Amino acid sequence: MRALPATVLAACGLIVSACGGAAGSATGGTASGTVTAGQAAQQPQAGAAAAATPGASAEASPAPARAKGVAAPLSGKVVVIDPGHNGANYRNPKAVNRKVNVLTQWKPCDTTGTSTDSGYSEAAFTWDVSTRLAKILKSRGATVKLTRHDNNGVGPCITERAAIGNKAKADAAISVHADGSAPANHGFHVIMPKKIGGPVDPVVGDSRELGLAVRSAFEKGTGLPYSNYIGSKALSFRNDLGGLNLSTVPKIFIEAGNMRNAAEAAKFRDPAFRQRIALALANGMQHYLQA
Ligand SMILES: [Zn+2]
Repeated sequence: MRALPATVLAACGLIVSACGGAAGSATGGTASGTVTAGQAAQQPQAGAAAAATPGASAEASPAPARAKGVAAPLSGKVVVIDPGHNGANYRNPKAVNRKVNVLTQWKPCDTTGTSTDSGYSEAAFTWDVSTRLAKILKSRGATVKLTRHDNNGVGPCITERAAIGNKAKADAAISVHADGSAPANHGFHVIMPKKIGGPVDPVVGDSRELGLAVRSAFEKGTGLPYSNYIGSKALSFRNDLGGLNLSTVPKIFIEAGNMRNAAEAAKFRDPAFRQRIALALANGMQHYLQA
C-alpha cells in the first residue's frame, strides 16, 4: 500500500472511526429500493423538503493543514462531483422517465432515488455530502464542478451528468449515491465501469484505481463495512450505468450505504457523519490524484 500524502494523514487524524454501514444502489434500477418518478409521488415528501442545506455544515470543514509555502496539494486538478438524483424528480415523472441511450441499453433520464424510512431522501443526502466534499476539495486546491446547482430541481439526465465531467476534462469524477435495499442489508460499495466497446473503455483502468483508493479511504474514514449484498469486497463493476458508460474521464459511483437499514439511516441523517463521509471521499480522491 502506498503511503498517504501528508495532507491526507493530517485530515485523517480528524476522523474518528466507528459505525456499521450499509450500501445500496439506487443508481437507476438495480436496487430494490429504487423507485421510478411515478412511484415516487407516494413516498414521504419530507425528504425532499428536509433535504439539503447547501454548503451549510454545522461543523467546520477540516483545515487544509498546509505548511507555509507549500502549494495546495490538489492545485491544477479538476474534480467533477455528481450528487445523485434531484429533489424535485419525484414531482416530474414525465421528464425523469424519458428514455435516454446509455449505449448498452435505454434507461430513464434520471430516477428519484430512495429514502430512509423516516423520509430523508437520497437526493438530499447526496446533495449534502457532495457540497461538503466540494468544499474540502476546493480547500485543497482543486477546481470542483457539481452536476447540479441545488436540491430543488429536476435531473439532469444521466447522459448529461456524464457529459459535464467530460466537458470539464475532469481528472476524476464521482457520483454520490446511497442504496435502498432490504433492511438487513448493509455496507458500502464502489461501482466502476466495464469496457463496453465505447467511450469509457480508455478510462476503465484509471477508474478502477480511483475506485480502489476511494474504497480504502471510505472504509477507514467512515468505519462502514463492505457491502454484504453487492459486489465483492465492496467493488462492483457494471456496464448498465449511463453515468459510467458515457464517461471519458476516470469515474466511479459510491453507494455509501443502505438507507433502508435502520443503523445506517441514523448515521446518514447525522450531519457530522455526512462530514466524515465527505472527508473520506476527499481523502480517497486525493490519494488517486496524487499517485
Ligand atoms: Zn442513487
